[in-house]
Amino acid sequence: MFTNFDSIDELKRSVYMWLLPIITIALVINSFLNNNSLLDTVLNTMLISWFSVSWVLAYINRGIRIGECVTLFLVSVYHVSTMFDVVTNDLKASGGSLGDFIVWMPLIIMFFFLVLGIKKGLYYSIFIFMITLAIGVIYSGQMNSESIDSLTQFHAANIVYILVLFYAQNMFRAFTERDLLKKYAYLDSLTRVANRHQLDIWLEDELKAAEEEGTPFSIIFFDIDHFKKVNDEFGHKIGDCVLKELSAIVSGNLTDGDLFGRWGGEEFMLIINDIGGQAYEKAEHFRKIVENHCFKGAGSLTASFGVTEFQSGDNIDSLLNRADEALYASKNCGRNKVSVKEPS
Ligand code: GH3
Ligand code: MG
Ligand code: MG
Repeated sequence: MFTNFDSIDELKRSVYMWLLPIITIALVINSFLNNNSLLDTVLNTMLISWFSVSWVLAYINRGIRIGECVTLFLVSVYHVSTMFDVVTNDLKASGGSLGDFIVWMPLIIMFFFLVLGIKKGLYYSIFIFMITLAIGVIYSGQMNSESIDSLTQFHAANIVYILVLFYAQNMFRAFTERDLLKKYAYLDSLTRVANRHQLDIWLEDELKAAEEEGTPFSIIFFDIDHFKKVNDEFGHKIGDCVLKELSAIVSGNLTDGDLFGRWGGEEFMLIINDIGGQAYEKAEHFRKIVENHCFKGAGSLTASFGVTEFQSGDNIDSLLNRADEALYASKNCGRNKVSVKEPS
């Protein structure tokens, strides 16, 4: 029940699997314990049978959409005809309230939105509401004041439920969109690893923690060797695939506390808690991983690495300048190397 759903269809399926048995049991109890009219009995039997079929469809994950449409039709007929039955038999004749069918009204409107989406769900809910309103208006002349009050409350509640559900859905959608925007503001759109913006934030945090709490860290800057050639020989698309593949293999080999992102172009950065020899070893480890990997469509490639560790008084620029110097030392020594720039 508490799983993350990959699609709306999966979410709906789970909703049906849980709710249909509960509603079916409620209908069965209602059929046995209530002195129902013939119309009620026919409708209840139809709904019980159809909900059982729908549950099986949801269980085997087949024909859920068709099932939903049939349910939408049956539920609408149930809602309107029960309303008609109550108004013409109970309210008109004996006065009093609408009875327990109104308990299901919010769920029925929710179902309209679930099946039809926000816009069509709103139109359809209003359409069904207009029918029930017309029934109420037509028979209002033959009712006492208590029944008219009950009917008015029903219609007012109906409008409130439609509006609340409509606005709630729009609100959830706005929250979801905002969360997605937030998420993608920190992710590189091609490789799906952290982007430069995120790396900047991480660096600021690491610098602050290092100055205030004395927690050391190093950065590893690396750049794919002769990447221009990959684009020239195999095309830009393969070049993009190489960047994605490299990001995936590096991400798959991170250890706890390692932070990794794309700095830009074919340059990447690792922020690690190791220093000294251990930082060098980690860079060597990643250099070998890249060297030993066969990239789809481009074959073997290498990368050059530059390593430097935090020293007191550092800011992002000073840290990056040293890492850059180390990287270019690797490039100048023939590439596919790790160089370290010690703090001065
Ligand atoms: P070096 O070994 O000195 O690093 O040589 P290089 O060819 O890798 O370096 P250079 O900086 O000259 O070229 C980098 C190339 O990376 C140029 C640019 O077209 C390419 N590039 C940058 N971003 C992307 C991208 O997102 N996709 C693809 N396919 N290519 C990119
Ligand atoms: Mg470069
Ligand atoms: Mg390069």
